[in-house]
Amino acid sequence: MPAPPDKLHPSKHALFLDVDGTLLDIEDHPADVRADPSLVAMLSSISTGLGGALSLISGRPIADIDRIFAPVRFAAAGAHGSELRQHPHDPVAAAESALPASVLDGLRAFVEQNPGLLLEEKRGGVSLHYRRAPEFEAQCKAYVQELLPQIDKDFRLIAGKMVLELAPIDHNKGAAITEMMRREPFSGRRAVFVGDDVTDEDGFRVVNAMNGITIRVGGNRGSLAEYALPDVAAVRDWLESVESRISR
Ligand SMILES: [Mg+2]
Repeated sequence: MPAPPDKLHPSKHALFLDVDGTLLDIEDHPADVRADPSLVAMLSSISTGLGGALSLISGRPIADIDRIFAPVRFAAAGAHGSELRQHPHDPVAAAESALPASVLDGLRAFVEQNPGLLLEEKRGGVSLHYRRAPEFEAQCKAYVQELLPQIDKDFRLIAGKMVLELAPIDHNKGAAITEMMRREPFSGRRAVFVGDDVTDEDGFRVVNAMNGITIRVGGNRGSLAEYALPDVAAVRDWLESVESRISR
């Protein structure tokens, strides 16, 4: 597994980090996830070292990212790029797109009928989690497939780790990184993106195209990422090394 470079330059690199499965282990219930204070402090320190050019890039809504990393806020792209926050204390800029009410009602009823499933509703889409009820995987996939013809002009289905997501077609992590890289404090820097799942491949594609550094957690076989780290613990070690080597 090719190990990524860990010397980031304070004014020449910008760091984009996925959250679940990259910074934090994936939990059965996504609402249980919390960052420990040492991780928050380390990210804060790296962000300062990079002049604020650190952004969290997640499928979660930004409000949820803020809850996880409280009390610190970071620049962020949430809900697969449907929400953007260029600076930690900016208001969240949200794209206007929503699933039709009939589709949402159907999904809510489906989850109610199948205990253990969890529907995460976010701006611009939903995530249907079956991690706590893997026996419903086939039913979930069949149900979501059934919905697709009503919405596939505007939404796409993303099959993640024990989760099915319906996300707006024109929003993805790659588009979010591209957008953030247009403006300060990210513009003019070399992007570094770390992610672990299928939705991160959009990010790897655009970051490779801008001659950035791409790192896949869990191995980079079948991934567009150039480098790999084995797991969340290895990401922590890498970040510690990054933090200690940012020179001012
Ligand atoms: Mg992830």
